[in-house]
Amino acid sequence: MCEVMCGIVGIVQNNKSKIGKQIIDSLTKLEYRGYDSLGIASITNGTLLIAKDKGKIAEVTEKIDIEKIEGKVAIGHTRWATHGQPSKENAHPHTDCNKQISVIQNGIIENFIELRNELLEQGHTFLSETDTEVIPHMIEQVLREEEISLKEAIIRAINRLEGTYAICIVSTLEPDKIFCAKKDSPLVIGINKDRMFCASDIPAFLSSTQRVTLLHDEEFLTLTSSGYEILDLKSKKIIKRQPYTVSWKPEMAQKAGFPHFMLKEIHEQPRALSDYIRIKQPSVINIAEKIYQAEKVVFLAAGTAHYSTLTGQHLVRKYAQKSCNSIIASEYDSIRDIVDEHTVIVPVSQSGETMDTIMAIKDARSQGASILSAVNVIGSTITRHSDEVVYLYAGPEIGVAATKTYLAQTTAMWDIGLELGRISGHLDDNDYRFHRNLFTSLPSAVSRVIAANEALSNRIASWLARKSSSFYLARGINIQTANEGALKMKEIAYIHSESYPAGESKHGPIALVEEDYPVVFITPPDQTRKLIIGNIMEMKARGATTIAVMEKGDKEIEEMTKWQFKIPEGYGEKFSTITYVVPMQMMAYYTAVRLGYSPDMPRNLAKAVTVL
Ligand code: GLU
Repeated sequence: MCEVMCGIVGIVQNNKSKIGKQIIDSLTKLEYRGYDSLGIASITNGTLLIAKDKGKIAEVTEKIDIEKIEGKVAIGHTRWATHGQPSKENAHPHTDCNKQISVIQNGIIENFIELRNELLEQGHTFLSETDTEVIPHMIEQVLREEEISLKEAIIRAINRLEGTYAICIVSTLEPDKIFCAKKDSPLVIGINKDRMFCASDIPAFLSSTQRVTLLHDEEFLTLTSSGYEILDLKSKKIIKRQPYTVSWKPEMAQKAGFPHFMLKEIHEQPRALSDYIRIKQPSVINIAEKIYQAEKVVFLAAGTAHYSTLTGQHLVRKYAQKSCNSIIASEYDSIRDIVDEHTVIVPVSQSGETMDTIMAIKDARSQGASILSAVNVIGSTITRHSDEVVYLYAGPEIGVAATKTYLAQTTAMWDIGLELGRISGHLDDNDYRFHRNLFTSLPSAVSRVIAANEALSNRIASWLARKSSSFYLARGINIQTANEGALKMKEIAYIHSESYPAGESKHGPIALVEEDYPVVFITPPDQTRKLIIGNIMEMKARGATTIAVMEKGDKEIEEMTKWQFKIPEGYGEKFSTITYVVPMQMMAYYTAVRLGYSPDMPRNLAKAVTVL
């Protein structure tokens, strides 16, 4: 099974004005989800109008004037191809043979080959290689065979699908409605007085409304301009679900004067951290207690979130003195045999929709494990499969490369870790209070890190942009900081960057080092510092150009390295995985910009990977 990330949006309104423009505005907010093609279907004066092509939103709208489309109903899609390469034909929406039913989908229909063969035999003609295209033809076929309502035909067709999907459908047969269904791919509903939205994520409609509700798995939605109806896909019983108001502000989903979302999100980190710290969540203590009582503790995550769980792993070992593993979600099988009712699983995810993680926790749950998650998006799939959730409160993150959510995830790990230290007695009252105070000062520390290092990161970027490879070295808990720094550089600047435990670098990587080769060292004043000094000397002896992320005032490191990012004093022993990563985010950002790449939309990547 696969998780894919495209952007979906649907709008039903009570007048015809500017629907094309609204669809484009909304999709722009979702473009982080995938961006190889763009398409829209609208019902304009009773006819189905489809405009689509391969390319990013800006490229397609340059060729096709989508913004001028008028209508009461429209659906739009940015695709992240899984079945069939990015092309005009494969771009969504897809239609039935009569061009009456139009469908967009996020996800993968696993039984599409069988369904497609059946439909081909029944005489349907396919115009794309996608799995999605079976859906409109299946609905058409049901309607050919029986005299039933469009809604009933759609439900029947969807009930035959296997795999993951969020689907939106419009049809000239009932031109004032959008029909939707979902399973394992996200779909949220936005409620405005004269207009209703469905979308993959809340930022799509945040400029129109903060009133939202969620569609859950295997539910069916009918949207009209005045309301919504949710049914259970199997029993067809009506489900009553009240809307709620989200606190995310529209401007939070815009660039607020920054050239890119990524830079804005780097600068938002102090705010994100203070929101997290301000909202004291009882689940933090509950999670710490359950970890402390558990026999086995497994952190599960993918991508950047995995690095944040290495802080969690370190703190569980240190404060609970318990064996604990941090596993990459797609490698869940490697620990599956030890998961049982004495195990707690701690999934960490920005979107709460990462498919690898969802599949792993569903399995762990079925084996009796408790699920204690840390997630940014409220109500997302992972949170619904969890016994306890700590929310990250980082707000929407649009840049594909995670920054503020990584910091928030790592902060949540420390928050749980401090509680573990208190519960286990590893931190006595004084220690606990001291660390809590320091924890509360993290937003201001991160602000100072940004202010003190942004100009330097831009300067180093002009040199790094000419390099094709680099190393990021650290020891102990900050190996994850080096991992995250290297990941940012390769994700957005496309410079090969390898992170390594510094002590291990002489067992291989050092062979690549030559004159002026970039090596970044994370050098907090903890027990790793002395040994790191030795590693810096080894690299320098081979001609490397060294960059240190170090505590302000550390003269020795300053003298032996070429460039230094300086972190305020006091955060080197504790919380260094939060403060020391920030200069490397900025260095990667400025390197990407110098190379002319778009840091918000790196090639081949999507923000939430909703495919396996
Ligand atoms: N599987 C569908 C396709 O490849 C949808 C992918 C997506 O979610 O964008 O067209």
